[in-house]
Amino acid sequence: MVVARRFDLVLRGYRVAGRPQTVDIAVSDGIIAAITESLDGGGDVEVAVGGRLVAPAFVQPHIHLDKVGTLPLLGENRTGTLAEAIEILHRTKRAGTPEEISERAGVVIRQAVLAGTTIIRTHVDVDTIGGLSPLRGVVRAAREHADLCDVQIVAFPQEGILRDPGTLELMDQAMREGATVVGGMPHWESSPDDSARHVEACLDLAQRYDADVDMHVDETDDADSRTLAMLVEATARRGWGGRVTAGHCCAMAAWEDGYAADVIMDAVAAGVMFVTNPATNLLLQGRADREPRRRGLPRVKEMLRAGAVVACGQDCVQDGFYPFGAADPLQTALILCHAAQLSLPAEIDHALESISGAAARVLGLEGYGVDPGCFADLVVLDADDPHEALRLTAPRRWVIRRGSVIAETDVRTSLLRSEGHRVHGERPHRIS
Ligand SMILES: [Zn+2]
Repeated sequence: MVVARRFDLVLRGYRVAGRPQTVDIAVSDGIIAAITESLDGGGDVEVAVGGRLVAPAFVQPHIHLDKVGTLPLLGENRTGTLAEAIEILHRTKRAGTPEEISERAGVVIRQAVLAGTTIIRTHVDVDTIGGLSPLRGVVRAAREHADLCDVQIVAFPQEGILRDPGTLELMDQAMREGATVVGGMPHWESSPDDSARHVEACLDLAQRYDADVDMHVDETDDADSRTLAMLVEATARRGWGGRVTAGHCCAMAAWEDGYAADVIMDAVAAGVMFVTNPATNLLLQGRADREPRRRGLPRVKEMLRAGAVVACGQDCVQDGFYPFGAADPLQTALILCHAAQLSLPAEIDHALESISGAAARVLGLEGYGVDPGCFADLVVLDADDPHEALRLTAPRRWVIRRGSVIAETDVRTSLLRSEGHRVHGERPHRIS
């Protein structure tokens, strides 16, 4: 007699990208045990809604959870510039307590989970203005949401290291109090020599703690900002490839074409990965330009053609830099498509990859994907295929983490026609 197998969770009749048939997905001990067209066995929990799309849960590779939701606490940014935004932020940073920071961070963690995210990499400011309060606030929020989401914390010297003496010691302490990744902001130093010292200090710290590095790099319109090349060279020299990420890289938009191509090629060879944050950077960069106006984005198409890992982050949610943001990776990927002009099918695939597989590589995740043996971190999208999910920023019907359903969204809309006909259950904006 054959006894049907029992699983912790079974998803019935789902669609997986690249498969013509709907499938059943079985999960045991938080791992995908089987994906098959007709599963032999049942689950302690069964979820059955035919034909929806299952994708790996989204990965948020770049956000600032210590700053989210600070906009109502700030005065007005009269010039709309990055410089004034930073000045205003100092005041809020000085006043922030771990309790208050944790509350704001928690709101956005929960939004991110509802949007299908089960792991977040967040930068937190480490400097002599706020000390370790931002870190302690975000650590607290991460602990309070440990049942919903993993949070990787980057010790981020927002004010510079040489410009703000004492910061390196605080970063060292942050690595002992919950940060696991070393951040950086080398272009914020006062000279190219200091920028180079900043890069070396961050890599020293990372190697001492056997940690990954994730720096804010060249977040400026200045064509002379060339700290990406410094980071790439130091990564290659120290053999830290595969563990280093360069975020923002806005100056690349201002660089001369040949120089940009060389640095991109060197970055790929050195194993330096990229995170672009199109929403914030489209809003903040190029403000001093008359037309044509630079978009302030890295050269995403050229990076992809060179074989680079390119992830896409939210960066900011309702703070002094950016008044919008929903911690929704589909929204940021859609913005990326417009900003970087990704419109061909393979390019749209890259945009989706930037919030999933590529972001997972930046975070160093193992067992990521919708395949047997992968962790059962999944999002069920109210769409037939990934491109439709992106086009409609489709509702996240269910979010699953390690085999447990941790969030659900039930969208119900009705057309009220003059004849009195009522149509239930249509997807928002969907024309069929
Ligand atoms: Zn950032």
